[in-house]
Amino acid sequence: ADVLLEVRGLKTHFATERGRVTAVDGISFHINKGEILGVVGESGCGKSVTSQSILRLFDEKHLVKYEGEIRFNGEMDLLKLSRPQMEDIRGNEISMIFQDPLSSLNPVLTIGFQIAESLMLHQHMNKKQAYAKAVDMLRLTGIPAPERRIHEYPHQLSGGMRQRVMIAMTLACEPKLLIADEPTTALDVTIQAQILDLISDLNQQLGMGVMFITHDLGVVAELCHRVVVMYLGQIVEEAPVEDLFEHPLHPYTKGLIRSIPQMDGDRTAKLHVIEGMVPSLENVPQGCRFAARCPYADSQCREQEPELFSHADMRKVRCWHVERIGREEAGVYA
Ligand code: SF4
Ligand code: MG
Repeated sequence: ADVLLEVRGLKTHFATERGRVTAVDGISFHINKGEILGVVGESGCGKSVTSQSILRLFDEKHLVKYEGEIRFNGEMDLLKLSRPQMEDIRGNEISMIFQDPLSSLNPVLTIGFQIAESLMLHQHMNKKQAYAKAVDMLRLTGIPAPERRIHEYPHQLSGGMRQRVMIAMTLACEPKLLIADEPTTALDVTIQAQILDLISDLNQQLGMGVMFITHDLGVVAELCHRVVVMYLGQIVEEAPVEDLFEHPLHPYTKGLIRSIPQMDGDRTAKLHVIEGMVPSLENVPQGCRFAARCPYADSQCREQEPELFSHADMRKVRCWHVERIGREEAGVYA
């Protein structure tokens, strides 16, 4: 497969009042062209920081320092691009949709103008072409009467509509990579399902790569091809989606999957069912970062940090005791 995005050894350090905090601590993963990669983990695990680092959205003068490489579409390293070069990539080749659509829509401009503007800027369309495409995109996202809607302002639309407008705006430029950070969390279940269908359709129709960040494993199971699980700034497991659900390897992933509400249950139940507190990034424990919450932890775990070991085809897991845990779970004690 063709690699669209390759992140290698990414570290994102923030300067805080209490010193340096490493929110993303040496992560490596890739997304192929046409692939949907799910990124899951509890809040604070670094999944949003990872996506915002890819787009370099943090204040690089004061706040943040990056290490590693982010290779996009061949050889270019996003971390080495100049500001103007990066601006050209953002919203054009790589687009992002956020949880809160209001944060990325301008309240004083019509939605038609906002979509058309980015098309004129990034795709060098004239005004007429850009408005025609804006109408098409709104129609594609399921907005009724788009010819009329383009003249409206964000406040005239419902939350679900605004989310679709943002998605229409994001996808109008046909980005090679879409980063979606919990884009449906604030929406009701029906609209949520429609938006996920839309992302899936566009992934198939346009071959767009997607990085889908969520704490909802139900969504991951439906939408994603491959999954990366993050814990406290690191990747702890990587696997094709079926493998992850059928046979999770990392104790943290096992806990997440066990905490999924049953199908008839409350879909809003989230991932905080695993016992114990996530340690703070300012005070990262020695050894395995999951040890304090892990039922299998031993002295090796508490002293030595495990690497992200390769495990079988296309799988990786950051744990010392995968084989032992597998045997114990199967009821075979060596
Ligand atoms: Fe648990 Fe040890 Fe594996 Fe960490 S390395 S997940 S503490 S068994
Ligand atoms: Mg987040």
